[in-house]
Amino acid sequence: MRKKIVAANWKMNLTLEQGEQLVNDLLGAGLQLPEGREVVIAPPFPYLLKVKQLISNKPGFFLAAQNCYSEKSGAYTGEVSAEMLRSVGADFVILGHSERREYFSESNAQLAKKIDLALANGLKPIFCCGEPLEVRKAETQNAYVAKQLAESLYHLDAAALKQVVIAYEPIWAIGTGLTASAQQAQDMHAFIRAELAAKYGDAVAQDITILYGGSAKPGNAKELFACPDVDGGLIGGASLVAADFAAIVQSF
Ligand code: PEP
Repeated sequence: MRKKIVAANWKMNLTLEQGEQLVNDLLGAGLQLPEGREVVIAPPFPYLLKVKQLISNKPGFFLAAQNCYSEKSGAYTGEVSAEMLRSVGADFVILGHSERREYFSESNAQLAKKIDLALANGLKPIFCCGEPLEVRKAETQNAYVAKQLAESLYHLDAAALKQVVIAYEPIWAIGTGLTASAQQAQDMHAFIRAELAAKYGDAVAQDITILYGGSAKPGNAKELFACPDVDGGLIGGASLVAADFAAIVQSF
């Protein structure tokens, strides 16, 4: 059975003190996390160690970084490597978020290198894909997402792919208050799974966790998570409010 995951992407928000408070509020929220349900918290880099301390020995809670660099180590001032992230206890790393693709010009090819470095260092990539509004309007979103998957993931063998979590995040829904309808999310998630099945076989595709991201909140999470191919969410804005994030986690 594939895992159900709800991941908090804090982006570039919160002070250390606010972040600690948020994690403590979540830990105190009495979340029910049966086997196979995971909560992943992706704070900014400087808070990784602190959040790791707070969640260690808390079953079901895991740590993610929001990015890593596409080279192993060396003279890349300001960058952070996959090996460094693993050394501070990160379990996951978000790669290919649309904000990274847009503001930092990350390409599918560069993301393929990041995926490899993450996997080589024991990190599970949360690989983000999703189309901009003009692509959705032109109804070419399937081809757009298929290309992102092919160019960043399809060099992996099946065992490596099974370590990857995919997050479908239509760009027009991120931070905009516009959410994909449950039907739009299900259609794309089913398409992604079918693409993976065509490349890796159905058994592998059925094992891959596919998250939805884009203005998910307590009021729409239940309907989204009820879709058969939606295995949880990558949550931005609503992850900054403990009660909202906790409600989303409990929406399965
Ligand atoms: C995100 O940035 O991954 C995201 C889904 O943001 P939001 O929930 O704020 O739309």
